[in-house]
Amino acid sequence: MTREECLARDRADPLAGLAARFAPGAEGTLYFDANSVGATPRAAPAAMAAMLEQWRHLRRRGWSESDWLAAPRRLGDKLAPVIGAALGQVVVGDTTSVNLFKALAAALAMRPDRRKVVGEAAAFPTDLYVAERLIAGLGGRELVLAPDGADPAALIDGDTAVLYLSHVDYRTARMHDLKALTARAQAVGALVIWDLSHSAGAVAIGLDAANADFAVGCGYKYLCGGPGAPAYIYAAHRHHDAIRPLLAGWMGHARTFDFPLAYEPAPGIGRFQVGTPAVLAHAVMETALDLWAGIDLHAAFAKHAALGDLVVTLANGIDGIGLASPSDARERGGFVALRHPNAASIVAALGAAGVVASHRPPDSIRFGLSPLYHRHVEVFDAMTRLGAIMRDGAWRDPQFAKGSKI
Ligand SMILES: *Cc1c(COP(=O)(O)O)cnc(C)c1O
Repeated sequence: MTREECLARDRADPLAGLAARFAPGAEGTLYFDANSVGATPRAAPAAMAAMLEQWRHLRRRGWSESDWLAAPRRLGDKLAPVIGAALGQVVVGDTTSVNLFKALAAALAMRPDRRKVVGEAAAFPTDLYVAERLIAGLGGRELVLAPDGADPAALIDGDTAVLYLSHVDYRTARMHDLKALTARAQAVGALVIWDLSHSAGAVAIGLDAANADFAVGCGYKYLCGGPGAPAYIYAAHRHHDAIRPLLAGWMGHARTFDFPLAYEPAPGIGRFQVGTPAVLAHAVMETALDLWAGIDLHAAFAKHAALGDLVVTLANGIDGIGLASPSDARERGGFVALRHPNAASIVAALGAAGVVASHRPPDSIRFGLSPLYHRHVEVFDAMTRLGAIMRDGAWRDPQFAKGSKI
């Protein structure tokens, strides 16, 4: 694969025009961060400025005279097609951690007579913290974790209330078969919660097609909603009436502004709202979700797979670098993880060479890929710089010994 061939692929890319709808990053930097934040939609600064202007003019009237309060549901409907959900099943707000709590509490209440929550010992830490503490607080339940690498489906039985999984392993990008695992859990009457943080906006998910129960995910990774963007929660239509939120708040009430003292859940997915939406953050997030409107999702996810395959192919030619991710794109989530015992130093050296990647212990070097803004030639150039760093040993410089924290 040559640089020329990558340029030719970019010229033939039906989604190439979308890159111009993102603001350029720092000059000369190739940006492949896989965790903390995606690129900036070009429309974000104006949307933020417009919202600040609304605030200045309307002040409290903003709540009644603008659509501030409708944003969580409106954004949920804009996100829904990206994760394969029909409208009315997604609400945007809070954080992934908080939404995990809401989903797990709701699912457990729907399976009162079952004891087990089945998850994975190597799940993303926040997912584990939420489940451990919620289960400890509720009592009478047990968190059962499959050891790293073992199949969590083997732990599912008739006493399983909930299968609680990340769609994608945050260290390796290995992706579970969402549809098959959902069916396996449902076959014994369990409910399933998926954390889509490392797949939404990068790969096809098809929640409705998989007959999913609950899902959550974050807004700031592949969805490009900005630092600390609102997260989201999905529940299938068929469950809405049965959901009694444990974390209840006035924004999830059926008649918020009548100020009733008795709790009555809002109809539909809106009952998962808790408090006042973060209006400014929603305004920025909306510019990111608007980028998905009208694009060919099939082409987007195919492009993401091709970009990932390109990382795999080019990394294969670099001495000393291994592959931590599956080589088959159908088994990978949003990023590609390479492997090296000195991954932290290599990521730091890449940074100094203008390539932003990310490191996760012990040995993974992650390249996050967006079908919306990455070009094949950027992957080529990043892998060329990685090859140079490995050949000349630049990463051994003591200045890179500490790696980088984020
Ligand atoms: C990024 C990520 C989160 C983020 O959680 P927040 O509460 O939004 O900070 C949660 N779970 C997974 C799997 C993630 O990758």
